[in-house]
Amino acid sequence: MAVVSNQPPALTIELISLFPEACDQFLHSSIVGRARARGLVRLQLVDPRRWAGGRHRVIDDRPFGGGPGMVLAAPPLARCLDHLASRRPGRLLVTSPQGRRLDQAFVGELAGESCLRILCGHYEGIDERVLECYRPEEFSIGDLVLSGGEAAALVLIDAVTRLLPGALGHAESAASDSFADDGLLDHPCYTRPATFRGRAVPAALLSGDHAAIDDWRHAERQRRTRQRRPDLLDSPERD
Ligand code: SAH
Repeated sequence: MAVVSNQPPALTIELISLFPEACDQFLHSSIVGRARARGLVRLQLVDPRRWAGGRHRVIDDRPFGGGPGMVLAAPPLARCLDHLASRRPGRLLVTSPQGRRLDQAFVGELAGESCLRILCGHYEGIDERVLECYRPEEFSIGDLVLSGGEAAALVLIDAVTRLLPGALGHAESAASDSFADDGLLDHPCYTRPATFRGRAVPAALLSGDHAAIDDWRHAERQRRTRQRRPDLLDSPERD
């Protein structure tokens, strides 16, 4: 186990969700859980119901104009956001299928922040006036509709956390991952056994010759990218 740092975490992530228990296990597992244990990231689950009134702490209401579904009401969300903002400044993000598409460049930018505050929508969505008043950055994980923003927020948190210095061990370095600095897809990988169902591991990988291995991997990254995502090779950021 890694040495636990005495430094305060470089990044605080506040996740505002009606379903904190649905996120909790994920956020304690694997690389995210390990980064928390190492003190690289502080993750705080915030249930906005705390700022809802009434005995039942209801936070959703029927949409004006009718129609199906429920809408997350503005006043409790605003009280929650004001409370969090009074404690520390943070970059406010909201999950939305209508938002900016999440990609590795955006994730890399977010990993450099000191506090990310992520508000998860649910049901039909969030009262528009919350978005007008707080001007959050809306982000989407793709052109598909989820029932709530939790899964999208977890995608973001996972992708950001693994970029924090010290989150990955050497063996898991992010440098050759798909979409890393050179914008290529990653090469294929293999482990033991050396032959499986008659298929041998490419000879270069067994050669012990590091230059040959690097060459093979680089060629595979080029080949895969050309084959699967030629748009990445054409992108202006590559030059
Ligand atoms: N009526 C909305 C969708 C609501 S889905 C519309 O059609 O635009 C309920 C919530 O799930 C959204 O408020 C959002 O927070 C989250 N969500 C759904 N799809 C998402 C996606 N692709 N990316 C990020 N969040 C999403």
